[in-house]
Formats: sequence, structure tokens, C-alpha cells
Amino acid sequence: MDLDHYDQVEHFWCPLLGQTIRFGYCRKMQGGLPCHRVLTCFASHFPVAEFLAEHYNEQQRREFLAQPQSRLDRVMHTLDRVAAGERENKS
Ligand code: SF4
Repeated sequence: MDLDHYDQVEHFWCPLLGQTIRFGYCRKMQGGLPCHRVLTCFASHFPVAEFLAEHYNEQQRREFLAQPQSRLDRVMHTLDRVAAGERENKS
């Protein structure tokens, strides 16, 4: 099956953009890779998990399906790293 086979399939409401959207947008919206929510949004439209397994390797799927970190998560992660670095410098 071609990569663009389902590009014209519409999801009635994108929670990120607040509008109807076609899969052709969703499968490229993370720097050319699919949106992290494609399984949720398109499961009722076509066998999206099979489509992803056919066109993307396991590592790619793990990366683009991962929940993106919030800004607060990123800040806390950075603070943890800084604190860990300071503890290492003192010892
Ligand atoms: S897969 Fe992502 S971009 Fe596409 S409709 Fe769902 S939330 Fe929106």
C-alpha cells in the first residue's frame, strides 16, 4: 500500500487545530513524521496501526507516538539535570 493511500481520509475534529483535517496532514506534521495522536484519531477510519507498522520502523513509531513533553516537564527535567551535575561537582 502506498504511503499516501489514506491521505484524503478526514477526521471530523482535530483537537490540536480545532478543525476537520485530512490524514495527509497528520502523517507529516512532526517534521515529516506522523502526529503522536494518529492512533487515537484515525483508528475508527482505517487500520492505522497496520499502516504505521508497514511504513515506519519500530524506533520511529516509538518516537513519534510518544507523548510530547509539556514546557513544565522540560523545565523540571533540565532542573533535575542541573541539580545532578552540581551534586557530582561537590563530590
Ligand atoms: S492526528 Fe494529530 S493532527 Fe491529526 S487530527 Fe489527530 S490530533 Fe490533529
